[in-house]
Amino acid sequence: MENEETKTLNVMLTGDRPTGRLHIGHYVGSLRRRVELQNEGRFDEMFIMIADTQALTDNAGTIQKVRDNVIEVALDYLSAGIDPEKVTIFVQSRVPELFEFTCYFMDLVSMGRLERNPTIKSELAMRAFGESIPVGFLTYPISQASDILMFGATIVPAGEDQAPMVEQAQEIAHKFNNLYKPVFVEPKIMLPESDACRRLPGTDGKAKMSKSLGNCIYLSDDAKTVEKKVMSMFTDPTHLRPEDPGHTENNPVFLYLEAFAKDEHFPLFYPEFHTLSELKAAYEKGGIGDVRVKRFLADVLNLTLDPIRKKRHELEKDISYVYRVLEEGSKKAEEKARGIAIQARRAMGIDYFENRKLIEKQQKAFNKAHAQEEALAAYLAKQKK
Ligand code: ATP
Ligand code: MG
Repeated sequence: MENEETKTLNVMLTGDRPTGRLHIGHYVGSLRRRVELQNEGRFDEMFIMIADTQALTDNAGTIQKVRDNVIEVALDYLSAGIDPEKVTIFVQSRVPELFEFTCYFMDLVSMGRLERNPTIKSELAMRAFGESIPVGFLTYPISQASDILMFGATIVPAGEDQAPMVEQAQEIAHKFNNLYKPVFVEPKIMLPESDACRRLPGTDGKAKMSKSLGNCIYLSDDAKTVEKKVMSMFTDPTHLRPEDPGHTENNPVFLYLEAFAKDEHFPLFYPEFHTLSELKAAYEKGGIGDVRVKRFLADVLNLTLDPIRKKRHELEKDISYVYRVLEEGSKKAEEKARGIAIQARRAMGIDYFENRKLIEKQQKAFNKAHAQEEALAAYLAKQKK
């Protein structure tokens, strides 16, 4: 369901938790696509949020980490090519409307629904909170729904782990619109094109490269570090000698190549082959050593990351500029969320001070009651006489 103001707008919203610098999983899972979308110009409005409040849900005791990573993530965005003239980059905690509506949305979701969220389930298992799961952590999908809905986002480009969050946002929008009045747009997720990009594994072969697991290649890692990390990567455990036939499926080195290697990289770094399919076929047949493939991957990654690292180096010389971008973006974001909040409060009937009609109606009811009381008193007084 769509309302008057949001009907014609195509709005993109996406974000990241400032729990560390961004890694190549973020790049292929979301960041690369954001830059393409920004340059295609097919959205009327684009928002990218640094989710500091969400990051605090499992980092309340390490607030310094979140605080310091706000600027790191902003530097990563700008270095990867996000243009603040085209995209509003903002900090979640600076937009109070998001938290007000998180509260209202909490009343539309059951505990059972939250506990069934598969991403939350696996994140809880990873974090080992034991009996002390922070309430904020368990409920962050509701807060994330607020982040999406309060901007009228139609599209949320994100990795696969975010699909249950977008589903939760759709459900809340649907429930709110039916219960009150149609205000919220039901958002859709935009997943990366290939399996490898939807959920890039960690360098340790674990299911997901994740800041919290320390199995990352960061966008800002220097060339030597990238090479070192690639060389120590997990590959096919059955491929012991180069002449052994190898497996490319679920082999992190090949999954990374799927996400990053282009045909034009072969003449530069691996001229014996022309395409990734050719290289894969040869590896599966036997006769290709892991070290040679890893060397190729390191070259491909470094070629891709080099311009990003250079841009970061320049931006790091003017941190005040980056904070200014965030401050201006946050003001713009608040303005947008405020507009939708006004409509949503009106739909709920909690626009206490703005609803003149309701105020007049209530005044009339009080006046009527007073008149009746006075009439009754006058009647009783007359009877007494
Ligand atoms: P944390 O460990 O703190 O949760 P994270 O590395 O999972 O950090 P997020 O900030 O939670 O990063 O995720 C930001 C965006 O990047 C989301 O859209 C998410 O789907 C995407 N993303 C994160 N990790 C990967 C990955 N390994 N592969 C593809 N996309 C990813
Ligand atoms: Mg995450």
